[in-house]
Amino acid sequence: MSERYAVIGQPVAHSKSPWIHERFARETRQDIDYGLIEAPLGSFARAADEFRAGGGKGLNVTLPFKEDAFRYCAKLSPRARTAGAVNTVTFGSEVSGDNTDGIGLVRDLSGNLGVELRGSRVLLMGAGGAAQGALGALLEAGVAAATIANRNEARARELAARFSVAAKGYGELEGGFDLVINATSAGLSDEAPALPAGVLAGAKLAYDMVYGRDTPFLAAARAAGVNACDGLGMLVEQAAESFFVWRGVRPDTAAVLRELRGR
Ligand code: NAP
Repeated sequence: MSERYAVIGQPVAHSKSPWIHERFARETRQDIDYGLIEAPLGSFARAADEFRAGGGKGLNVTLPFKEDAFRYCAKLSPRARTAGAVNTVTFGSEVSGDNTDGIGLVRDLSGNLGVELRGSRVLLMGAGGAAQGALGALLEAGVAAATIANRNEARARELAARFSVAAKGYGELEGGFDLVINATSAGLSDEAPALPAGVLAGAKLAYDMVYGRDTPFLAAARAAGVNACDGLGMLVEQAAESFFVWRGVRPDTAAVLRELRGR
């Protein structure tokens, strides 16, 4: 019988995760069934308990439940602890939480996009769960310097202090970055972080974690002559790492990403 997995979020109907995991399962000959759970705010634990009681083996967790999932799990991986958020729950003899967002970002940047992370200077915008997950993984990948900028500057300072990196307000930024990553959700409302002119100059890549739309940040990067890429590859890579955590098999991500991009 198929083993059951699902993505839980609010809203979640738009999620590409069921499609991605079904492709992975077909390719690796794993017998899984992957569904969607739209849970009301404040009811993550109840929904997760019900899924587990019904025989569920694992959950991917998306907005706004990653911190609820962090509190829910009895056992946390080092990656989840670093991120302070869980996007992958495994139901075994105990409930384990992991976070694959950071490694998903790093694999997309270095594997799919050919970015040399070691020694690079990175501007990371945002201080939410995605930025927290990304920062630990970027530092582990050997970036030489990371600067955090966030609309709420106190949150940027708090995150930067945890990782001993620099924090700046958007207005103080001057440029000199090899890689600029937008880990804010601004693009979802067709907005962009308030970057002063010139900050993107000389960057090799501008990366927006938001995917499936041309965000104002990506448009501004292209207008400044900078290569720009959305977060679709990160989505596929974080899913592949979750699949590996659950099934012990690593799916090939390139074909899935090509198909999602429609080429
Ligand atoms: P979150 O915890 O809600 O944090 C949102 C962040 O965006 C905060 O830093 C917030 O700043 C900032 N922000 C929101 N609107 C803004 C605006 N108009 N201008 C400037 N900053 C703004 O969300 P998250 O979990 O970190 O996720 C962030 C984004 O990454 C989401 O869009 C999510 O879809 C995407 N993501 C993608 C992947 C992928 O696989 N591609 C994986 C994870 C996340 P304040 O602190 O000032 O409010």
